Amino acid sequence: MKSSFRPSLVNGPFQDCALYVALRWQGDALLFDLGRIDRLNPANCLRLSHVFVSHTHMDHFMGFDQLLRLTLPRDRELTVSGPPGLIDNIAGKLAGYTWNLTESYLFRLIVIERHEQHLARASFRAASGFVREPMSDVPAPPGALIETAGFRIETATLNHRIPCLAFAVVEPRHLNVRTDVLEARGWETGPWLSRLKAAIRADDDTVPIVIPTAGEPIRLDAGALRRELVDDQPGQRIAYVVDTLFDVESAERIIGLARAADVFYCESRFLDADRDEAEKRHHLTARQAGFLARAAGVRRLEVFHFSPRYQGMAQAFHMEARAEYIGETRLEDEVPWAGALLDEGRAAARVESNGGGRS
Ligand SMILES: [Zn+2]
Ligand SMILES: [Zn+2]
Repeated sequence: MKSSFRPSLVNGPFQDCALYVALRWQGDALLFDLGRIDRLNPANCLRLSHVFVSHTHMDHFMGFDQLLRLTLPRDRELTVSGPPGLIDNIAGKLAGYTWNLTESYLFRLIVIERHEQHLARASFRAASGFVREPMSDVPAPPGALIETAGFRIETATLNHRIPCLAFAVVEPRHLNVRTDVLEARGWETGPWLSRLKAAIRADDDTVPIVIPTAGEPIRLDAGALRRELVDDQPGQRIAYVVDTLFDVESAERIIGLARAADVFYCESRFLDADRDEAEKRHHLTARQAGFLARAAGVRRLEVFHFSPRYQGMAQAFHMEARAEYIGETRLEDEVPWAGALLDEGRAAARVESNGGGRS
């Protein structure tokens, strides 16, 4: 199975944050954080449909101006989502320029703020000089941000002395119809396959499905067809975590968001020798990133956002994170609350794999 999401960091690990995720099937792309983006090629920039901003510290947001400059001439919307305050931040950025020659432009920005129980929204159109136009709030359960046919975005709020959003981009599960079974049974393809997939996605095994054949149509319920005809595979999950204190609440939220992720991008501003400083500045160390990756059972960990003070020492970050990720070092032996998170993680993994025995 080919991956639908192709993620790549725009900059090196000592530079600003920006993660570009190309969506293979839609041709669109997503961007997580807006640090400097001069290395992002303009054609890739034009493919962006959604941008997600963790928080508006400069190293995560100063690329907004460049993004706007590149996307302004295009005739489609761009949605930018982030924490409370983002609408004011963007209104402030837009107010810093003169917009007297954009009346004929079709470009529109939609800005979404993730609040605890709802999404606050505003719209800014180039044609009206980017004046802020209010939009109605949308109720949204914690953790949910955006859902489209091709992907879903989940969020968690972390503690960076300000709220900082972590994100996961999640692909809907793959439901592949087995053509060998169709042929062997003499069943014809048609809209019934979409109805079957819809029933499976809704977890409703009882929906009756009528299958056209060369002779009389056959009637079976969705559950029987699911077992016989459909390969059901979970979609990709990519988690993106930056700028947070290593405390029990944030760690718990990160582990939930990154659970079983295919790739987990995690900031590591400091090495563990400077753990006290990381704590003061509300950042993670490479070792803490490795622990979170192990607790969440991710497939691959990518550490980045290293402090420039360690220039030339990238290898030390990778080694420290990896040792903790594979359990060679054990943070839970030094941090009392961390062990409990590992136990919860194992319990959650057991539930997901249909309750296998205790290992
Ligand atoms: Zn920050
Ligand atoms: Zn940062």
